Amino acid sequence: MKYVICVPDGCADEPFDGLGGRTPLEVAQTPTIDALAARGTVGRAGVIPEGMAPGSDVGNMSILGYDPAEFHTGRAPIEAASLGLKLPADRLAYRCNLVTVGEDATMVDFAGGHPSTEAARAVLEDLDAMLGRGNPDSVLEFHAGVEYRHIMVAPADWLDAECVPPHDLTGRPSVAPTGPAAERLIEVTEASRAVLARHPDVAANQIWLWGQGFQPSMPDFAEHHGITGGITTAVDLVRGLGVLTDMALPDVEGATPGYDTDYAAQRDAALAGLADGLDLFVIHVEATDEAGHAGDAAEKVRSLELWDSEILAGLVPELDRMGPWRLLMLPDHATPLARRTHTPDPVPYLLVDSAVDGPGGTYTEAGVADASVVPGHELLSHLLVT
Ligand SMILES: [Zn+2]
Repeated sequence: MKYVICVPDGCADEPFDGLGGRTPLEVAQTPTIDALAARGTVGRAGVIPEGMAPGSDVGNMSILGYDPAEFHTGRAPIEAASLGLKLPADRLAYRCNLVTVGEDATMVDFAGGHPSTEAARAVLEDLDAMLGRGNPDSVLEFHAGVEYRHIMVAPADWLDAECVPPHDLTGRPSVAPTGPAAERLIEVTEASRAVLARHPDVAANQIWLWGQGFQPSMPDFAEHHGITGGITTAVDLVRGLGVLTDMALPDVEGATPGYDTDYAAQRDAALAGLADGLDLFVIHVEATDEAGHAGDAAEKVRSLELWDSEILAGLVPELDRMGPWRLLMLPDHATPLARRTHTPDPVPYLLVDSAVDGPGGTYTEAGVADASVVPGHELLSHLLVT
């Protein structure tokens, strides 16, 4: 049996005025998804446990079959793992965005104008030289990640602070951290402005620290579930979950966290991983979430249509050639176009077994509105033992 999990990040939505009161899943032309839903089972998954922040770290941890209430310790430690950072018990990781804050303290861009990874690396090297390991008075480390998403490592006593994720502040006044560690966080954030000023090629003008935590200890995927698994993703924190659980993480040329990702290349990476002997493969594409944050209905619809034409239309016949298979499709949270941020609401899921027809349904928010909510982290075992 082969298993595929499809994760269009943040694809779930709410009725949107710009789409005539419909959702992207309702508007998108997705003949393959429609056919799979007609022969499968649709339902609602609670991917974000009650009281937890609706981040991709939490939602994707659920999708991989780990209860976030048990295993989640923060977002940044997962992303740090994706950079190969295994932290000792007395060090923690902060997510360090490069952001653009206006003179009136408005959060203009949580992504700092999407700097290239190369340009950002030069900024992070400078931050580390001046405010991190290059500075004998500093207890901090700065590690370059991808585009605007980076990591700061700090001592354990920097943990206690309430930090607002910058993507929740777009177009609104930026909110400084609070709590015992806040003063030190504000100080290093202020100091970063002088470092960014040395990089006029980057639109970002300061760092933003959030999502802190110690690294979680998650059992390996193979040990936890009794099957081997791989992931294709261009997002650090999803890759980090794969590192922490020792899943296969092939490099996929053309996979990006933007609208331009090579959907077919990500599909082929999944098929190659399964052909090479992996039992399960996760295809994670960020574009739907990006479109939700941008409030861009056309891109969100287009991404779902590309999922259908570039991934699923080719995936299904290839899986049929390999033998029996099961497929699970669901986002890690909703990113409604009207809200431009994540929500903790349950999301629609689709479960298909190549050999056993389900009751059939429609893979939309309205199509699952009456279904009872399944805890997200239990869905993987549904997939395995259905
Ligand atoms: Zn997400």
